Order: sequence, then structure tokens, then C-alpha cells
Amino acid sequence: MVHDVLILGSGPAGLTAAVYSARANLSPLLIDGSQPGGQLTLTTDVENFPGFPKGIMGPQLIQDMRAQAERFGTQFRHGHVSKVDLEAQPFRITVDGEETIETKTLIISTGASANLLGLPSESRLMGHGVSTCATCDGFFFRGKEIAVIGGGDSAVEEATFLTKFASKVTLVHRRDKLRASKIMQDRAMNNEKISFQWNSSLEEVMGDDVVTGVRLRNNQTNQTEDLSLSGVFVAIGHTPNTSLFKGKIDMDEAGYIRTQPYRTTTNIPGVFAAGDVQDSNYRQAITAAGSGCMAAIDAERYLEAAH
Ligand code: NAP
Repeated sequence: MVHDVLILGSGPAGLTAAVYSARANLSPLLIDGSQPGGQLTLTTDVENFPGFPKGIMGPQLIQDMRAQAERFGTQFRHGHVSKVDLEAQPFRITVDGEETIETKTLIISTGASANLLGLPSESRLMGHGVSTCATCDGFFFRGKEIAVIGGGDSAVEEATFLTKFASKVTLVHRRDKLRASKIMQDRAMNNEKISFQWNSSLEEVMGDDVVTGVRLRNNQTNQTEDLSLSGVFVAIGHTPNTSLFKGKIDMDEAGYIRTQPYRTTTNIPGVFAAGDVQDSNYRQAITAAGSGCMAAIDAERYLEAAH
């Protein structure tokens, strides 16, 4: 059997693509990947997704999107894609090293993962004071003290953005020079709410149920210092989940799949990309969902034109 639409990834991009292509009678098959639900399953309250005036929990939002996709006939397959062959139609996708699925169109919505430091306390308190998204979670830290980890444009931009809410932001960087662009550095340096901890690494996030502080280690003096605060934003970069597609589809230097402006089309006819896997800029649930909708419509039009 050759499928019309195969969707890889089950975050807001993949699930929205599923809703749209199922409602277009294309009977999509969705493979949910190694982290079903994607990054939203790592957050708690989502207050900026339109339609939920009281907010909604990230995992609940994903569950509801999934139920909506199921209602119109999306089929779900749990598994991990181990190989893709995009050289000829139909495309061939191998799942868990055993089953090969054939499809006329492929929507890649495998997302991106925020890079983490790998500390047990960081993962234990993720969503309970530890966050990787200032736009999503900054609002919860109104009047509180927080730390941002990293020295690139993301860290400096997030630190500056977070001063809208937080009473104090400590930027913790492992070197004594920021990687961020000069203009962003100047903005942060001139912001009286931001202070800098140079040559320092986060050693532990403290707190039982919620973050109560951090332990930093100065890598020049080897001294540790504890700071009392309520939030930690880890901003040390993102990695798009595209290792499967290396050498098979056009990507930028950072590994994000290249799509045409305002479209989800890639350099391979019939292959579309939606959500964070092709967006290093906005990275929001609503923009991912929007591009998932676009990918389904692009796939539908491609199938119509092909017949
Ligand atoms: P990035 O430029 O790769 O910076 C990552 C930062 O995290 C670096 O300062 C790095 O330290 C630090 N880091 C990495 N691993 C670490 C670890 N294990 N422990 C401690 N610190 C660690 O990533 P980004 O800031 O997310 O930016 C990604 C790209 O998007 C860049 O090209 C950036 O210019 C762009 N961007 C642009 C804007 C804007 O223009 N408005 C905003 C955001 C991002 P070192 O410096 O020591 O390596």
C-alpha cells in the first residue's frame, strides 16, 4: 500500500498537518517519534495559544490536538524512523529498522530540541522553574529573580526580554566574553536589571518541587556560589532533529531544513517541512501549528497536480 500523506513527528506542526490532511480525506499516517508530543510535553501552562483564555497545560493541548486528528481518521503509528529514502517516488520510510512504509508525500515535522546541560536537577525541575523558552514562560516570573545560562544571541536576547517580568536577571556564562552580537551585548550591559556571572557554570539547580536557587562554579577560582532565585532559563542553543535527513535534503549550516519563503516546500517535490525543524527563528507552538496547516495544504495541492 502506498500512502498519500505520511507525517513524521507529533508536536503541534505534525498534529495540525494531520487534522488538515485527514479532513481532506487523505487518510494520513503519523509516526510519533521518540518524544511523542514534542517540546510542549515538557512545559506546564501554555498561556499564549489562542482559544484558551485561561491557559492550557502543554500535554493536554497535545492530547486534544491528537484526539482532533484521530476524529477525522488519522492513523497513528508509534515508532522511530530509522531510514529514509527520498530518491524516488514513492518515498520509502523504514520504522524501527523493520517495517518499510511507502508514501507519495512526506511532511517532516520532527521538531528541534533545546540543548540542555545534562544535569539531573535540570531535567527534574524542567517546567517547575527550569525553562528553555523565555517567550513561553517569562510571564510566570513577574517580580522574581531568575538566571539565564548561555552567552549567545539567544541568551542575551532572552535575558533582556525577561527583564520585562523579573526583578533581577543574572546571566551566567562559561567565558568572560559574550558570543552575542555587539548590539545585543550593549543592550544587556546597559540594562540595570541584568548582572553577569562570568567564567561560571551551572552546577546544580536547587529545589524540591520548584526552583529555589542555583549553585554556580567559577571555572577560574573553582569556588562555588549559591544564588537564591525562582527560575532558570537554559539558552545554550537548539538542535533540529534532522540527523536522519543529512545529505538527503537541503539544510542550512545549523541543520534546519530549508523551505521556500512562505511555503513548506523543500528542494524535493513531494517532501514538505513544518514547525521547528525548518524554523530557528519563531519556535512557537502557534507558528508550528500554522506551518503544519500550510504543509497539509501544500501536500494536498501537490497530490492534486500529480493526478
Ligand atoms: P549559540 O550562538 O550557539 O550560543 C550558544 C551559547 O551557549 C554560547 O555562548 C555557548 O558558550 C553557550 N553554551 C553552549 N553549550 C554550553 C554548555 N554546555 N554549557 C554552558 N554554556 C554553553 O546559540 P544561540 O544563542 O541559540 O543562537 C543560535 C543562532 O541563532 C546564532 O546564529 C544566533 O546569532 C541566532 N540568533 C539570533 C538572534 C537575533 O538576531 N535576534 C536571536 C537568537 C539567536 P560559548 O560562547 O563559550 O561557546
